[in-house]
Amino acid sequence: MYYLHLFDPWNFPLCTCPTKYSVDPYTGCEHRCIYCYISSYIPEPWRVREKRDFLRKFERDLKKAKRMPVSMSNSSDPYPKVEREKRITRGALELLRRYDFPVLILTKSDLVARDRDILSSMPSVVSITITTLDENLAKKLEPFAPPPDRRLKAIESLKEKGVKVAVRIDPLIPGINDSPSDLRDLVKELSSLEVNQIISSTYKAKGDNFKRVAGVFKDKAEYLREIYYEKNELVRGIRYAPRELRFKMLKSLRDIADEFSIPFSVCREGLELNSARTCDGSHMLYE
Ligand code: SF4
Repeated sequence: MYYLHLFDPWNFPLCTCPTKYSVDPYTGCEHRCIYCYISSYIPEPWRVREKRDFLRKFERDLKKAKRMPVSMSNSSDPYPKVEREKRITRGALELLRRYDFPVLILTKSDLVARDRDILSSMPSVVSITITTLDENLAKKLEPFAPPPDRRLKAIESLKEKGVKVAVRIDPLIPGINDSPSDLRDLVKELSSLEVNQIISSTYKAKGDNFKRVAGVFKDKAEYLREIYYEKNELVRGIRYAPRELRFKMLKSLRDIADEFSIPFSVCREGLELNSARTCDGSHMLYE
């Protein structure tokens, strides 16, 4: 295989995703989310570049692959600005439809709504991340990503065409975007758009992303350091917040999702909080 590979090659112990493939049409991501993990394993993480001869090689991969959902993308955003002209992700969707592969899209970009014609004509679930409705806070967390209101409009546009949409409220960072009243406002908005699932997880600290988070939220740096470097749990070298705190944050969000009757799941937390049938929305591919 050239570009298609099995999702989660590291067999992360807390991952509950059904088996699927993963593909990234682009390398690098321009959103520069301060909490991002790719900076620990991708050189020049914030420079978007196309993969060489992507569509031709991807088609070859698909011809050899088993029929399984394809997740796009997990180490970048499949809709960087350049996709507007390049249309590589759109080309990948056309191939997936032609070869009969269901697709799970993960993005923070409203450009995904451009492809609603294809997405509505094949088994697809689009996961759009929204970590807050507060534009100023979003600008600090995801400085170069489209603001939350554009992402909400994209959800509306996809839903109009009957595309299934999950929203990832992810990550929740203690003391930053976990206020229950703000989360309730967000979930209420998502409910009015008839979002099909909410997926969430808590922030995990790695040296480089922690430096960025602590640098932007200086007034919370000491509090976060204590949570992630003194009271933390360690899973495969990744610093998690203590289990009780993670449970409290995510249970509070689950309760709000229940209030609005939206199926809920957590991602890589090892906590029994799911009401949705799959953690990544893939069950909706077959509904
Ligand atoms: S969208 Fe994802 S890959 Fe891109 S910078 Fe943000 S967290 Fe990283």
